[in-house]
Amino acid sequence: MPHHDTIVVGAGVAGLTAARLLAAEGRDVIVLEARDRVGGRVVTDRRFQLVTDMGASWIHGVNGSPVAAAAEALGMRMSEFTVGGYQPDSRPIAHYGPDGARLSDAQARAYVADIHAVDATLVEVIDRSSPDASYRDVTEAALAAQEWDDTRTQRVREYLEHRSEEQYGAWIEDLAAHGLDDDAIDGDEVVFPDGYDRLPRRLAEGLDVRLTHVVSRIDWSDDVSVTTDHGTFHANRAIVTVPVGVLQSADFVISPQLPEPVSTALGRLSMNAFEKVFLRFRTRFWDEDVYVIRQQGPEGRWWHSWYDLTDLHDTPTLLTFAAGPAAEATRDWSEDEIARSVVDQLRRLYGAAVETPTHVHVTDWQDDPWARGSYAYMTLGSTTSDHDDLATPIGDVLHLAGEATWTDDPATVSAAMLSGHRAAERVLGRSVPIPSAWRDL
Ligand SMILES: Cc1cc2nc3c(=O)[nH]c(=O)nc-3n(C[C@H](O)[C@H](O)[C@H](O)COP(=O)(O)OP(=O)(O)OC[C@H]3O[C@@H](n4cnc5c(N)ncnc54)[C@H](O)[C@@H]3O)c2cc1C
Repeated sequence: MPHHDTIVVGAGVAGLTAARLLAAEGRDVIVLEARDRVGGRVVTDRRFQLVTDMGASWIHGVNGSPVAAAAEALGMRMSEFTVGGYQPDSRPIAHYGPDGARLSDAQARAYVADIHAVDATLVEVIDRSSPDASYRDVTEAALAAQEWDDTRTQRVREYLEHRSEEQYGAWIEDLAAHGLDDDAIDGDEVVFPDGYDRLPRRLAEGLDVRLTHVVSRIDWSDDVSVTTDHGTFHANRAIVTVPVGVLQSADFVISPQLPEPVSTALGRLSMNAFEKVFLRFRTRFWDEDVYVIRQQGPEGRWWHSWYDLTDLHDTPTLLTFAAGPAAEATRDWSEDEIARSVVDQLRRLYGAAVETPTHVHVTDWQDDPWARGSYAYMTLGSTTSDHDDLATPIGDVLHLAGEATWTDDPATVSAAMLSGHRAAERVLGRSVPIPSAWRDL
């Protein structure tokens, strides 16, 4: 086997970005990828002549986003869809009360004002929190400070639970107090009517990507050996972009073991439980001119938010999420069972107008061996710096990259791209502009 300059493990956005930047500098780089496709957690299903993003959908704020810059340069169509970040009010939302009746505008305004009141105090409460505090602990402290009655408190508490689940796929008591610190949206959010996968597919063009190469072992000392089911590859350096769940598994051995602070950081992150459910209908039965339908109360414990994607393809479409406990509980359910359960909830709100969906798409990231969940979240005791610590260069030959290694906005495609850029710069030993990754495409 030839000795390469750099081996990149994983052909997701982090790995492809790193590989492109190195290749643009004339480095001999190969990418080893377990799947039979590139893109990793950016993947578009095109069955039934429909375009369905099964992994990432959104750019959570286009201002300053390298993903938005790349998408624009690559001519990818984008469609504004702000409220992806579980915002309560940036765009029109139909809020339904626990009894299934839609809140009046005044009621909705009062509810949203309560959410903002809690959020306004939350930052300071989080700053003062103990190192092992949960997101539940800090939100309870912020709620108690409001001195509201039980009903008023409960509906904001429930919103905060759902925010933890929908943003991080984690139950509020399992998420670190700082687990949503990065939860800021800068600019409009957008989605991709022609599919997000165009980004990784374009980034892969011209690269030496070896698909269906499952990496099982990485030995590092002065240089690196990477063992796959197609033999062992050698290089001066490696950039490893596999998800945290793969890094933590016994099927992926790194020898010698990861040193500090990398190993502690890795131990404090965990893959989440977060699945998407897309329902297409023959006719549109829900409220006009809203981006989202939200249901409050115990009936909305699992299915509480439906995103109206109709405008994307002119097909009546709702997207909801099984997030956190709902994803764990429905992990072994069939697509039909999940669709029936979601439709039952919709019928509470819209009655017999709710038809049987014509098409259903449900993801299964929890059982995907190359992802082991959708993205990483901070468990109790974790600090935001764990993300960057995970990317600490190892012996100057091994670099971890990927969404979980970026502190500013982890769990996103931007984080993946920025972490790939950082890893490439560390291998090169100097700065390179990130647009070099798509300049020649
Ligand atoms: C359901 C869902 C919804 C999401 N929504 C959004 C969103 O709206 N907006 C957003 O910005 N982000 C979203 N994300 C997160 C985003 O998709 C990821 O943060 C990003 O794509 C991660 O890129 P990556 O390169 O770090 O990892 P990956 O894309 O996972 O790439 C890692 C690669 O390593 C490969 N690999 C794994 N194990 C091995 C092995 N043993 N040998 C060889 N190769 C291996 C994998 O197959 C994969 O291709 C979502 C993710 C999911 C799953």
